[in-house]
Amino acid sequence: MKTFDIQKIRADFPILKREVNNKPLVYLDNGATTQKPKAVIDAIVDYYTAMNSNVHRGVHYLSQISTDAFEVARRKVQGFINAEHEHEVIVTKGTTESINIVASCYGRAFIGEGDEIIISAMEHHSNIVPWQMLCDEKGCKLRVIPMNDAGELDIEAYKALFSERTKLVSFTYVSNALGTINPVREMIAIAHEHQVPVLIDGAQAVQHIAVDVQELDVDFFVFSGHKMYGPTGVGILYGKESLLNAMPPYQGGGDMIKEVTFEKTTYNELPFKFEAGTPNIEAGICLTAAIDYIEEIGLDAIKAYEDELLAYATDELAKVEGVRFIGTASHKSSVISFIVDGIHPYDIGVILDKLGIAVRTGHHCAQPVMDRFGIPGTVRASLAMYNTTEDIDNLVQGLKRAVQMLK
Ligand code: PMP
Repeated sequence: MKTFDIQKIRADFPILKREVNNKPLVYLDNGATTQKPKAVIDAIVDYYTAMNSNVHRGVHYLSQISTDAFEVARRKVQGFINAEHEHEVIVTKGTTESINIVASCYGRAFIGEGDEIIISAMEHHSNIVPWQMLCDEKGCKLRVIPMNDAGELDIEAYKALFSERTKLVSFTYVSNALGTINPVREMIAIAHEHQVPVLIDGAQAVQHIAVDVQELDVDFFVFSGHKMYGPTGVGILYGKESLLNAMPPYQGGGDMIKEVTFEKTTYNELPFKFEAGTPNIEAGICLTAAIDYIEEIGLDAIKAYEDELLAYATDELAKVEGVRFIGTASHKSSVISFIVDGIHPYDIGVILDKLGIAVRTGHHCAQPVMDRFGIPGTVRASLAMYNTTEDIDNLVQGLKRAVQMLK
């Protein structure tokens, strides 16, 4: 394992030096979005300083170098998730758009009236609503894998949900609200025993866990750049070549066509068939810097460090009177959701903010998770590789202060 130099890592993230409300920033909202290392910020500046031009179009020099850089990023992503072909990597706006593409294109073509789609009880709204919209349009049905009180999916119940009508399974690798890491390999294998394809929402996974889409044998895998130290406005849809080829395009426009006449249009090949219009060129190109940064430190080292931090944070927060954890799965990522008896999560968030501590409060775009636990929301501290035990100590002290003030 590579050595983990936390002081050097922190120095790479300029924003961590700033103050918020006259206090040093303690950033614990990484599940919402991560901060960016200087290498990514520099890549953004370099792009606009030296390269800015549209991709896949011009014969001129700048267009060629930006096109090359965009395609380098695609190959970088291919390597990062170990996709077999680079054209299986579709550049999108983010996880939300990637799921909507599969719901619209795969769903409309291959899922019909009376068919069933399996999702889980811990999905982000972006892995619920696109399927509900498809169900409204097509008359198909959602089946939901339940979870236990620890926030773990019930695998026996999952197996029992399959029927002749099951056409797709879609669930998250890691829960953004609870931190649960789902047994994805086992769950994919179960779906494949029924010849049902699987979409995995990797939005909360790729920044913590090494992913190999071929080894997982996953059919679709989606994630966002901004949650993995990269720019906002870019995400990835990985799909197996055969499935992507069988799907109709998502949007019509430039780049996704081969030939257009008023009588008929023929579509471009993968990946361009799903990339209509000018993409977020800068963000796409700068994914390379984000992946380079992660790979330089190494996901194994990142995971080991974050696991230690998670254990420390869990122990320390448990000492605060009235704290109840929501999500106590045995396999967890570095997300800690909790409530404090008799205090609304929002009020805690406001006081922590006054102390320079950024957490998220509320339902975390996962209202059914909150309903499952009978609560309006939680306080969520989500950790990244640059957080420290000192950040946790600050959170615990701030929380104690908030509890004192609000009780
Ligand atoms: N799925 C999960 C598990 C998430 O955590 C998020 C972001 N909170 C999304 C999907 C949606 O990602 P984006 O907003 O980047 O499209």
